[in-house]
This record gives sequence, structure tokens and C-alpha cells, in this order.
Amino acid sequence: MIYWDHAASTPPYDEVIQTMTEVMKKHYGNPSSIHRMGEDAARLIKRAREVCAASLHVKPPEVILTTGATEGNNMAIKGTAMQYGSRGKHIITTQIEHPSVYDSCLELEKHGYEVTYLPVDSKGMVNPSEVASTVRKDTILVSVMHVNNETGAVQPLAEIGQAVKQANPLTIFHIDGVQGFGKLPVQLEEWKADLYTLSAHKIRGPKGTGVLYKREGITLHPLLSGGKQESGLRAGTENIPGFVAMSKAMRMAAEQTDTFMREVGALKSALLAWIRKTPSLELNSFEEGAPHIVNVSFPGMKAEVLLHTLEEHGMLVSTKSACSSKTAEPSRVLLAMGRSGDAASSAIRISMGMTNTQQDLDRLLAALETAVNRLQPLRQEGMK
Ligand code: PMP
Repeated sequence: MIYWDHAASTPPYDEVIQTMTEVMKKHYGNPSSIHRMGEDAARLIKRAREVCAASLHVKPPEVILTTGATEGNNMAIKGTAMQYGSRGKHIITTQIEHPSVYDSCLELEKHGYEVTYLPVDSKGMVNPSEVASTVRKDTILVSVMHVNNETGAVQPLAEIGQAVKQANPLTIFHIDGVQGFGKLPVQLEEWKADLYTLSAHKIRGPKGTGVLYKREGITLHPLLSGGKQESGLRAGTENIPGFVAMSKAMRMAAEQTDTFMREVGALKSALLAWIRKTPSLELNSFEEGAPHIVNVSFPGMKAEVLLHTLEEHGMLVSTKSACSSKTAEPSRVLLAMGRSGDAASSAIRISMGMTNTQQDLDRLLAALETAVNRLQPLRQEGMK
């Protein structure tokens, strides 16, 4: 089997697995305890926070350790809304955000907030001047993702950040950085980011851990009541093995970004070139997108059929994103890009990582060719 679903989750580094095991065995104290085992655990968290902060070029107190990006995004959006709701009730996001952002905004609408969901063009891009003209006096938050998890579209964050701050310096700018970290340069300062979310299992770290960067001076209303962990922002005993292992993964992913862009980007370019030569396939990803995600439609054929045909040939891909692949609806992201319902229901996502090789790609292309040829008659039948 060859794994082509790295945007859903990634194989942990060996160092990550070793670290998790070692820390679980030896450092099981509770960091809130004041005896030496507690102090030892607290020291490990302090060090992990420093490493995460260094990987993002931010200060350690600006790093909030979380259970992943779903929590980070909820915390950023609902925490901002609850904290700054008296200043204004307008929020801006896009039509292509991950459900942890999109559904958080839908939820806030039920509580009296007004949300603008910005459209995207046919390449899945948000227009920064549209952001500029949408920000108002009462806009408390703008949330835009770095890399789209279904298509790999990369948003012009520097221009968007500039537009937000020029239109209203008090508006908080949040970025869901999950699919961009380790794959593309991350420039929080240049983007004027106030909040930035990460999930460790997308960068070969452990599941159930993540980071929310919160710029000094921003206050969030905590979502959980309980202990005073994470400066009172995230109650609950810390996942020490997970955080230590995540910090390793973050350091390694940051160090390997250039290599990732070059090596995985070369696989992507070859895959795009092959798809462009296959008339029955329609691309939803582009050369200028992230180096690891290729989304392609096979109109007339249900995505699941193509996925399982590829699986028979040992290739594991996904339909839409892992979080929404079990829902029957066509992809919201592809519909927002102006694709037809048919194209949006027949799309698969091939997402690559550094464990994939040129040989893997040759096998994928052969499998794609066989699958497309085998399904072609069925598809034509269905399109009649
Ligand atoms: N945002 C994006 C862009 C994602 O791809 C994901 C994971 N599918 C998340 C947020 C949520 O991450 P997690 O499932 O680790 O909480």
C-alpha cells in the first residue's frame, strides 16, 4: 500500500514515537504538583514551549499548547468573539475554511454575531481588496486559512493582513496554518497575524496536540472552565509526552521546509503534468498551490468509486478532506470555486509527504491510468 493521504494525517517521525514512549515512562508527574516529579514535568513543558516558539519565531508566552487545530480554531474564533463582543459583532471568514473555522462561525451566528463568508475565484483564492472593503468598524475578527486542505490553494496572507490592519487596526487577524507549516515559509510577522493555529499530526507529530499562537496583548476568553493551565486559557492536565514530541516534530518540520518544497513539489509537478494530459480529468489544484496537495475531478464518476479502484491497486487517496469525506454532499470548497456539482462530487485528493518517492509516483500514475481506463465506459454510460 502506498499512502497518499498526508493532508489527513502523517506518519510520525521515529524520534516522535521514541520521545512519547520515553516521556510517558519516566516523566509521568503532573506539572501542577509542587514536588520534584511535578517540577520535572513542568520543566519539560517549558522546554517544549520554547522549542515550539523558536520554530515560529515568536516568544514562548505567545504559545498556547492545545489538543489540536480543532481546539485552536474554536478557541481563536469563539474566544475572540466572547472577549471582544462588546466592541463589535462582525466577523469575516471565507467560504473555503475547514469545518473547525466555518462551523464555529455558523455557531456564532446563532448567538447574534454577523459573519461574512468571502467568496473565492476559480483557483480558490481570496481577493485581498475584497477583504479591505468588507472590514468595518465593528469587525472584531478576520479568519483566513494559509493553505486549503482540499485543493492546496495558498492565500495571499501578507496582502490580506495588510488590508485588515489598514482598514481597522483593532481587528484581530487569525490564520489556520495547519496545512502550510513545514510545507511553505511561515512569516507571522509579515502576515500581521494575531492568532495562528497548528496541529502536530499533520507534520509527523502525535495526534491530539497542537499550538495556538496568540500575539502578546491579545486576550481570549477561555472555552473550558477548570484549572489554570496555559495561563488560564486551557484548563486540563497537560499532555506532556505529546507536547514534548510535538515540539520535536515542529523543529524538524521547520528545518525541512525547503527540502519538502523541493522534493514533494517535484512529485506534485510531475503528477499535475500527467493529469493535464488526461482529457477525462479536471484539475482543481494548480502549480502555484502548496507542494503536497493535488485535487482532481473525474466528472461522471462518484469519487468513492475512483478511490476504491485506486485502493485495489494499492494507492490510498481521499475524497474531499478526511473530516468531511464521510458526508454525502459535494465539496463546499469546490462549489465555492465555481465547479459543477458533478465535478465537486467526483473529486479525489492526492496528498504527498516526504516518505513518498519517485517510484511511488510511477506506481500511482500507472494505477491512475488503469483506473481511468477501466471506469471510462461506466462513466460514459452514467453521463448519457
Ligand atoms: N484546519 C485544517 C486546514 C485542517 O486540515 C485540519 C485537519 N483536517 C484542521 C484544521 C483540524 O485539525 P485537527 O483534526 O487535528 O484538530
